[in-house]
Amino acid sequence: MNVDPEVVEQHFPDEATPAEAPEPTIAVPQFGLHDSKWSEEQWLGLLETLVETGVGTWKDITALVLGHLNPSQVGTSLASSVGFKRRYGKGNTMKIVMEWIYQQTGRCTDCGSRLELQADHIKGRESYDDPLDADFIENMILRCRRCNVVRRPSHEFGGITFLTAEAALMWIMLVIRPRTLLDFIRMCRLYGMTMSDIRMQEAWAMAHWLARAEPPAFGIENDAASFYDLILWPDSAITRIDADGLVPEGTTKIYSNISGGAVLGFVTLREDGRLKIHGQPVSFIPFSTYNLGSRTPQSLCIHYSPPVRDKGLPQKLSPLPPRSATLVCHAVRLSEQTFRLVSADGAMTQDLPPDASPLGRLIKTKMTAAGIGLTAIP
Ligand SMILES: [Zn+2]
Repeated sequence: MNVDPEVVEQHFPDEATPAEAPEPTIAVPQFGLHDSKWSEEQWLGLLETLVETGVGTWKDITALVLGHLNPSQVGTSLASSVGFKRRYGKGNTMKIVMEWIYQQTGRCTDCGSRLELQADHIKGRESYDDPLDADFIENMILRCRRCNVVRRPSHEFGGITFLTAEAALMWIMLVIRPRTLLDFIRMCRLYGMTMSDIRMQEAWAMAHWLARAEPPAFGIENDAASFYDLILWPDSAITRIDADGLVPEGTTKIYSNISGGAVLGFVTLREDGRLKIHGQPVSFIPFSTYNLGSRTPQSLCIHYSPPVRDKGLPQKLSPLPPRSATLVCHAVRLSEQTFRLVSADGAMTQDLPPDASPLGRLIKTKMTAAGIGLTAIP
């Protein structure tokens, strides 16, 4: 990364290290990206960092807070709803609504915030045969936009994480500082976000803008011009670190100083005995250089599958191969090379098509997993 470390240095204190890091599980996220456990001091530190690095000014931030303190349109949105007009009559509705607003505490029922208050139903519209019957003043309550959003069933981890998705996108970017868009997306998935990748791609514009600021306030990895070491974890996860970076305890360095433009190939063995070839460009491989709190450094070795709504299948986080798979052999090739399988005795070879995907494709071969090798050929 070509960023002056002085500039991106952060001023908030480290997160407390959990006494016992839990075993890594993929199905039930542990929220190592735990904004909900942050102290006021950490939030203050982040805000100061944003101002010091030129992301925003105190004036910007104060204006934003003032704008969100204003309970703008809470009254008119209620008064203009069809259900309210039907119940109270056009002429009376606004008066009834305004009397109700002035009597409130002016805080979110759930979290006590004064920001972005909205009128919400105590007993939801879905509980009524006629949804408009939910619209009466005694059934209304003030709730902040965040609490309103995280209560919806579509926000799968509502209540576990603190921020709304749109705020969390920026929190993850500016606190964890992903080096690539792919790692950013993986962090968002680990956090529990279920929206489509395009939302992360849009948010990533901020990374580009800050990277071009003078002095740069963000570092985007220049994969093609950089060199990396690849390391193998006990659960078969493969991650990258900077060339000659610190190799974490318990891991094995499998390649040194390879180009970010190269491709890692590896063969995995399925339970049915068949073999799969995988091709992962080095630029695709997650970094294990982030502080993910209580999560393991190789936590980003995940693959996200979106929900398949017409089949009723939920979204899923699964291990990114070769993580949790039986790794048979591996090799690195340059972009113009291809991979070749070589049998244990060297008697058989088989060239593989160059289009292996990161998740792998089945190989038709007479060779078996025992002693098989992979090499790169020009
Ligand atoms: Zn709230």
